[in-house]
Amino acid sequence: MATGTIFNIQKYSIHDGPGIRTTVFLKGCPLSCWWCHNPESQRYGPQLVLWKERCIGCGDCTKACPEDAILPENTPPIIDEDKCSCCGACARVCPATALEIIGKAVTSEYVMKEIEKDLIFYDQSGGGVAFSGGEPLMQPEFLKSLLKECKKRDIHTVVDTSGYANWEILSAVSGITDLFLYDIKHMDDAVHTKTVGVSNRVILENLRKLAWIHNNINIRIPLVPGINDDQTNIHETAQFISSINIKDVNILPYHRTGIDKYGRLGREYRVADVREPSKEYVESIGKVFVGYGLSVKIGG
Ligand code: SF4
Ligand code: SF4
Repeated sequence: MATGTIFNIQKYSIHDGPGIRTTVFLKGCPLSCWWCHNPESQRYGPQLVLWKERCIGCGDCTKACPEDAILPENTPPIIDEDKCSCCGACARVCPATALEIIGKAVTSEYVMKEIEKDLIFYDQSGGGVAFSGGEPLMQPEFLKSLLKECKKRDIHTVVDTSGYANWEILSAVSGITDLFLYDIKHMDDAVHTKTVGVSNRVILENLRKLAWIHNNINIRIPLVPGINDDQTNIHETAQFISSINIKDVNILPYHRTGIDKYGRLGREYRVADVREPSKEYVESIGKVFVGYGLSVKIGG
């Protein structure tokens, strides 16, 4: 039995592969994309978040904290992250549910029990399980254990990955994964490094190798206006995908649904000025990919 850290198990998902899926979100990611709509996924391990607007200033959290991590007499409270051990005592006493611990350590046995509750939906819809994040490859033993257990039960599996991992890990996972959802964010390494936080070299090289040994890979492209939607990048991306004999591309238009989470985490939202692209514009980008012989789906 392996253990890992997750931050959500979402039931009845229809955006993470075919059919109805249970999506298990593993916590921790080596990337820090400016537009990430799950910023709470990035840090490995549990994390305290604060819903500032809910706070009524009672001060109970300060009294409950065993680490003196919450400064007294501030509304909403000021939390010293360096002192906080994520014990959850403050969240348990808060009368306004303004504090919440995101992420918990669980066993693979626990996750499988949750997955098995939905077997009937997988059977009826041609669905299964998706492992997402964060970056699921950051917890390789936990992920492999879950994939093997799914295989034993004949449950279809999807791994949703940035591809930023050691090749040994990715190749080991590939043998027990039915479908990869694999992100490409930018072909220009300098822009990629600036907006995603890491180089794209490992990601593209891993994808090239994965395409040799796995025949079911869907490329996901988060389309972020002003960052990766210029014609040069779109053509280079389409050219690269077609050159490695992958056919399926899923364009995910930028959306702002994660914006409030940044405030709760006390973090800056780096793409606050970016607007959601129009349907017509996204379709025009899709046509470029079709021109390279690719099959394009728009939206998750
Ligand atoms: S989670 Fe625990 S350590 Fe962190 S601020 Fe709350 S009570 Fe203090
Ligand atoms: S316990 Fe909750 S409502 Fe009271 S001060 Fe702390 S965060 Fe605000």
